[in-house]
Amino acid sequence: MSDCIFCKIVKGEIPSKKVYENDQIVAFHDITPQAPVHLLIIPKKHIPSALFIDEEVAQEIMPEVFIAITKLAKEFNLEETGFRIVNNCGLDGGQTVDHIHFHLLGGRKLQWPPG
Ligand code: 5GP
Ligand code: ZN
Repeated sequence: MSDCIFCKIVKGEIPSKKVYENDQIVAFHDITPQAPVHLLIIPKKHIPSALFIDEEVAQEIMPEVFIAITKLAKEFNLEETGFRIVNNCGLDGGQTVDHIHFHLLGGRKLQWPPG
């Protein structure tokens, strides 16, 4: 996807503050943080949303996403206080970038239910 900002971040065409990378995924700081820790974990492959998690994505990519989340949660000292993993999907879900991504939020008390 040539016009996808997250594909551009993966390729290094748009700068980002990367905190983790392997052959399947990249994690970086959100440009507009909503909490003291606000990271985005994305697959390198362009997957538009959670609706496109087929069996291959579920088996090959999703484990990497969650392994990275656990690793980063510990690295950013969220182990004791807790944190939230968010995936927004589609218009009503509040998805604004059509490349699947998981928010890792922490470092403050988060409200529930979300707005
Ligand atoms: P969504 O609303 O789709 O769940 O989340 C998209 C997130 O991507 C937002 O939190 C937004 O701040 C972040 N974002 C949008 N453009 C950029 C960018 O160019 N760089 C980074 N690091 N984050 C971005
Ligand atoms: Zn993309």
